[in-house]
Amino acid sequence: MTLRQRILTGDRPTGPLHIGHYVGSLRNRVALQRDHDTFVLIADVQAMTDNFETPQKVRDNVLQVALDYLAVGLDPAHCTFVVQSQIPEIAELTVFYLNLVTVAQLQRNPTVKAEIAQKGYGESVPAGFFMYPVSQAADITAFGAHLVPVGEDQLPMIEQTREIVRRFNHLYAPVLTEPQALVGEVARLPGLDGGGKMGKSLGNAIWLGDSADELARKVRSMYTDPGHLRVSDPGSVEGNPVFAYLDAFDRDRAGVEALKSHYRAGGLGDVKLKAHLLGVLDAVLTPIRVRRAEFAQNMDVVEHAVFTGTRRGREVAAQTMQSARQAMRLDYFQADRFNTDRFKADLPSAAGRPTKETMTCTPV
Ligand code: ATP
Ligand code: MG
Repeated sequence: MTLRQRILTGDRPTGPLHIGHYVGSLRNRVALQRDHDTFVLIADVQAMTDNFETPQKVRDNVLQVALDYLAVGLDPAHCTFVVQSQIPEIAELTVFYLNLVTVAQLQRNPTVKAEIAQKGYGESVPAGFFMYPVSQAADITAFGAHLVPVGEDQLPMIEQTREIVRRFNHLYAPVLTEPQALVGEVARLPGLDGGGKMGKSLGNAIWLGDSADELARKVRSMYTDPGHLRVSDPGSVEGNPVFAYLDAFDRDRAGVEALKSHYRAGGLGDVKLKAHLLGVLDAVLTPIRVRRAEFAQNMDVVEHAVFTGTRRGREVAAQTMQSARQAMRLDYFQADRFNTDRFKADLPSAAGRPTKETMTCTPV
């Protein structure tokens, strides 16, 4: 029997998930979960790197993100939900990986560079934020992931991870798995404002849980082509987020092409075009919204999925950590030797030490 390939993906609990996540990564995860051993990380440690002053926001969003997972069809029977902060091995690996990257390498990371500019950090960027690609390498490798379904903005992180893995395996022993990125059908969905990327923290998102009214309001107020003033004016399709959303969600390809030609030629008004988009989005989002509301009535189920997933994640990460410690020659104390009764008898103060049984994962 061949071992199923592992998948690791994740999201920062900085807000609920949006339709960019859906086409960029969630759709892929749902399709792959049955044939892969899938781990989905709720990356609260990474969320803290730029939200450390508002920890309650991060905490509140952990279960919101889990709700979104269940709503889009990620199934805890196939897919392990893990809360990052409850896996100390990830932090431990991060510390060792930091030795394998240079500050210059981190400074070159185009996504982090853009995010530093967008957040206005300049020279005052928190060190934790600056080095989050390294912690992401720890996330991916802790679970031995082969595949990482991500949006385009994450490609530099996967490349950085691959470099760290190669370095580690070459220097110590080949114990880490080198992952591949898997970019979704839509690498980067623009925001409602036409901005480069829809983002949780950017105020330009359609949430998966938005009500029908909220969805309609957002679509109506979307940015289009500012030069398209009268219905009869020719309009621009490129850079127009309405068409980007139709490309991402409307299965009727020929219909979309016809709308594009009509818009370019003139005679197709924004109001009519947006009404069509609203119909398309509503058809995709209504079942998700309904499932989300059902799970929201039953938060115990959501918490249980997160708790059991995190416990399983901890076991897998602990195995990786053990191999990594052996590879780095840092495996001084072997658990078996220290757990024998003979050893305990020699050490009167051993009574209060944590044992395997007293070590548990804390539920969120
Ligand atoms: P934040 O603004 O807090 O960074 P975010 O919207 O960028 O939030 P993340 O949690 O950082 O969301 O990203 C989770 C995953 O979703 C990543 O794989 C990312 O590439 C993907 N993703 C996020 N936004 C988009 C988008 N607009 N289009 C396609 N994929 C996206
Ligand atoms: Mg992001």
